[in-house]
Amino acid sequence: MIQIDKYKCDFCGTCVSVCPHDAIELSETTLEIDPVTCTECMNCVKACPLHVLSEEPVHAE
Ligand code: SF4
Ligand code: SF4
Repeated sequence: MIQIDKYKCDFCGTCVSVCPHDAIELSETTLEIDPVTCTECMNCVKACPLHVLSEEPVHAE
């Protein structure tokens, strides 16, 4: 799962443009990643200039 630190995001759209699967949904004030479409290729994590995105392991609870 790609984690989104929404408070840091300035909605610049860079991550959307580098996603090969069109998994990122961006509007003026929200950013969402479709966990089904996303292949965790890490393109968006590397491309985000503000380090909003990160990959975190899913913890079993
Ligand atoms: S690249 Fe980073 S700052 Fe820009 S819209 Fe994506 S998550 Fe937000
Ligand atoms: S990790 Fe890759 S597939 Fe998933 S949202 Fe980011 S760029 Fe798209």
